[in-house]
Amino acid sequence: MVESADERKRQVRCLHCFERIVIPKGVEQYGCPRCGILWRISWHPNGMPKIRGPVWSQLRRYEESKNQGKR
Ligand SMILES: [Zn+2]
Repeated sequence: MVESADERKRQVRCLHCFERIVIPKGVEQYGCPRCGILWRISWHPNGMPKIRGPVWSQLRRYEESKNQGKR
């Protein structure tokens, strides 16, 4: 797949697993396809996304499922 300059601009690294992810334009939340953590996204005026932090309600669910798996 060829990356457009626009896609490269919207690319960030997941703060959890460091996967490179391309944020779809204008979304306020985006889940990392690799580790599944849902991030809150804010947008710079120049069109670049920034990860603000995890969505806590989703993160709790993630932690619960992880603990259940481990026992
Ligand atoms: Zn991730």
